[in-house]
Amino acid sequence: MMLKGAMVPHFPLRFGIRAGTISLALVGLLAGPVGYNRPMCLHHDLHTHSLASDGTLRPRALVERARQAGVDVLALTDHDTLDGLDEAQAAAADVGLRLVPGVEISVTWSRLTIHILGLQVDRACSELRNGLQGLQAFRDWRAEEMGRRLAKAGIEGGFERARELAQGRIVSRTHFARFLVEQGRAASVRDVFKHYLVNKKPGYVSGQWAGLEEALGWIRAAGGLPVLAHPARYRLTASKLRRLIGEFKDCGGVAMEVVSGSHSRDEALTMAAYSRSFELYASRGTDYHGPEKPWVELGRLAELPDGCAALWDSELWQQAA
Ligand code: AMP
Ligand code: MN
Ligand code: MN
Ligand code: MN
Repeated sequence: MMLKGAMVPHFPLRFGIRAGTISLALVGLLAGPVGYNRPMCLHHDLHTHSLASDGTLRPRALVERARQAGVDVLALTDHDTLDGLDEAQAAAADVGLRLVPGVEISVTWSRLTIHILGLQVDRACSELRNGLQGLQAFRDWRAEEMGRRLAKAGIEGGFERARELAQGRIVSRTHFARFLVEQGRAASVRDVFKHYLVNKKPGYVSGQWAGLEEALGWIRAAGGLPVLAHPARYRLTASKLRRLIGEFKDCGGVAMEVVSGSHSRDEALTMAAYSRSFELYASRGTDYHGPEKPWVELGRLAELPDGCAALWDSELWQQAA
């Protein structure tokens, strides 16, 4: 019998500390007889990006870095593409890490952009592939439109440079942000977003992404598990967040990110309470994009707060694997 996530002992000592061999050994010792039937405590990072979308590392380099950082189970979840998965899978086999094939789907819900992760997806599924192709086509059009709008604001060459920086199929606002930083428009990618790439700013084009139900349909068709990404990042009122989580669950959503590179500890605790009250599994991931953001490192994640049921300890997870 395997223990459910909720029964896994919690060690406050490890909150905020990357699992290293010493702490793993400590967990083994402290778990004592309870740990007998438990599978080895693996270190999961279930949300990362590569060069296939707006990350800066090739999939192979990402996997190697994750292994070095002590990650045992890594999900590659590029925005709206599966293109990095083959290389990541091959690298994972070489370094002895388990790669979870994933994707982060852009969704328009209630006129907002939200992100849904699909974990353990079958990358050959035509329904998922066709759906993502539609989003990629929108991205291509949007990138040209962003270029035109920036040009109107007196900034030339954005589309060409963003496409060059993307080096792949997906052109993201992140690539435009890097271009604008190169142009000296702001000191950092974060600043440039605020002044150029969000609603009512010169380079902004509103998203026309997948519907919530549609995206979950693709993920489920591909045998994957839908996870609501970084729910605290949308800055929703409590009632709107409850509506989002409720609709997500009604459409077949199974988990939400509780511990995330984009959540503070307080936000993680609040999201933990939501996951319990909606009976959703809890997931965690860094949302790593590359070494340029040194404050986010692969695998450097807190444990799930008390009372969360970890997605990776669920039967659904074993079945989807
Ligand atoms: P896109 O999907 O092309 O609209 O781009 C969204 C991506 O831009 C996200 O996945 C983040 O990586 C990045 N991003 C969004 N907002 C910000 C921000 N305020 N600062 C830095 N990066 C951001
Ligand atoms: Mn991104
Ligand atoms: Mn996201
Ligand atoms: Mn992400």
